[in-house]
Amino acid sequence: MGFIKSIINILFPGEYICLFCRENSSGKENPKYICTSCMELLEVVNREANLELPDVEKIYYSLLYNKFIRKKFHAFKFQGKSYLYKPFGEILIDTIKIKNIDNKVQAITFVPAHRRKEALRGYNQSELLARYIAKRLDITLLDNHIIKIRWTTDQNKLGRVERKNNLKDSFKAINIEDFKGKEILLIDDIITTGTTMKECSKALVEKGAKKVYGLALTSSMKV
Ligand SMILES: [Zn+2]
Repeated sequence: MGFIKSIINILFPGEYICLFCRENSSGKENPKYICTSCMELLEVVNREANLELPDVEKIYYSLLYNKFIRKKFHAFKFQGKSYLYKPFGEILIDTIKIKNIDNKVQAITFVPAHRRKEALRGYNQSELLARYIAKRLDITLLDNHIIKIRWTTDQNKLGRVERKNNLKDSFKAINIEDFKGKEILLIDDIITTGTTMKECSKALVEKGAKKVYGLALTSSMKV
């Protein structure tokens, strides 16, 4: 069986390869793009974040922010490894299923990047995740509904207090008719203070969204 797997990997590189290490096979029986060695390095928690935000029903995150994830996350966000949306998307889908979120929401959206920033990076990692999940779970994707109206300093370059004010009123919801009265799942990559989730949810709820659930891959908050 191992021999056949190797042949398959040679003939169809990438088909069963683990996208985290690009070395081991993820196995035909594991369509999640993650090999067993990398799987062991993940600390899956599927946890509800301990945050009280006015316009967010609940916020969840999938993984602990450990050394392995910090590295992979950095590659995904800053080093052009956009294909990591696949294993990361699968991890988020597991959380969605376990927390039964897919039966509560009617649409999915994501934290937008400012156009200039997205142009520099080539993609918005949160959008790639949301797009993948929407397709896999057959949920409507809202892909032009939150816009960033102010250019803001990267959250990770600011102190705690500055972060809270930095994003205030920097998002606006548009194309309101598509989500009015709906419950929406909002995808972000990481929870740092919850401010991004808070501001995006506020923008949606102000324009008529019924409820917003937040989901991120990981959280760097101290708990
Ligand atoms: Zn691996």
